[in-house]
Amino acid sequence: MSTPLADFIDRARRLFVLTGAGCSTDSGIPDYRDADGQWKRTPPVNYQDFMGEAATRQRYWARSLLGWPRFGQAQPNATHAALAALEARGKVEVLLTQNVDCLHQRAGSAAVIDLHGRLDQVRCMGCETRSNREAFQQALLAANPGWDRLDAAQAPDGDADLEGVDFSTFNVPACPTCGGILKPDVVFFGENVPRARVDAVHAHLQQADAVLVVGSSLMVYSGYRFVQAAAKAGLPVAALNIGRTRADDLLTLKVEQSCAEALSFLLPTTTPA
Ligand SMILES: [Zn+2]
Repeated sequence: MSTPLADFIDRARRLFVLTGAGCSTDSGIPDYRDADGQWKRTPPVNYQDFMGEAATRQRYWARSLLGWPRFGQAQPNATHAALAALEARGKVEVLLTQNVDCLHQRAGSAAVIDLHGRLDQVRCMGCETRSNREAFQQALLAANPGWDRLDAAQAPDGDADLEGVDFSTFNVPACPTCGGILKPDVVFFGENVPRARVDAVHAHLQQADAVLVVGSSLMVYSGYRFVQAAAKAGLPVAALNIGRTRADDLLTLKVEQSCAEALSFLLPTTTPA
């Protein structure tokens, strides 16, 4: 069936795809903005506090200890599969994601840039060594016996709503190589996306002839600026998102529908049983 979105995708030769939290909600990863693009909850930890205060790191990693198991086990959904199928058709110049869950890669997309980094890695702020988050989970558990039995609801970005406990007794392991501060390899609020990553994104944008936004309200400037640049360069921009986006006045096409439904035409049809 032909839809305006299918026609938009058909006409494009090289799509610059930008994805956000709306892609991953079907995988059980909570979104942190409502349909108006407003915060549903307290904004996540910011960079200055994390680097400057041991107490902030204790609180962050204690909550992460509880949030990681479910986050790390999330599986790609039909939206990820549809976008991987779009790449397999040779239509995708690059897929820029604001998500930190690596679910696009796990669904089979290869041309992916993780704008805000990836939560499955830990970065040492002293020696820049990257290590595996799952391995760090074991280190956190070993240093904090019993903490994994606390009860907390899942929050966005591998966080958990753990409150009312004394975080000052939580032990945060340091880098085994240099003793430096360990931080998830994601861009925190108050932190800039690395320059080289931004440059790489702009280079891909120059090769693209259309932009497709999937599941993002574009409220965060780090993603919005690429849509702004695309519109300025005269590229058609389509957005698939339930609710307002910051770029509504720049859009050629707006589709307010569930991502998986609207993109289902990209997937092979299954015969009903
Ligand atoms: Zn180190």
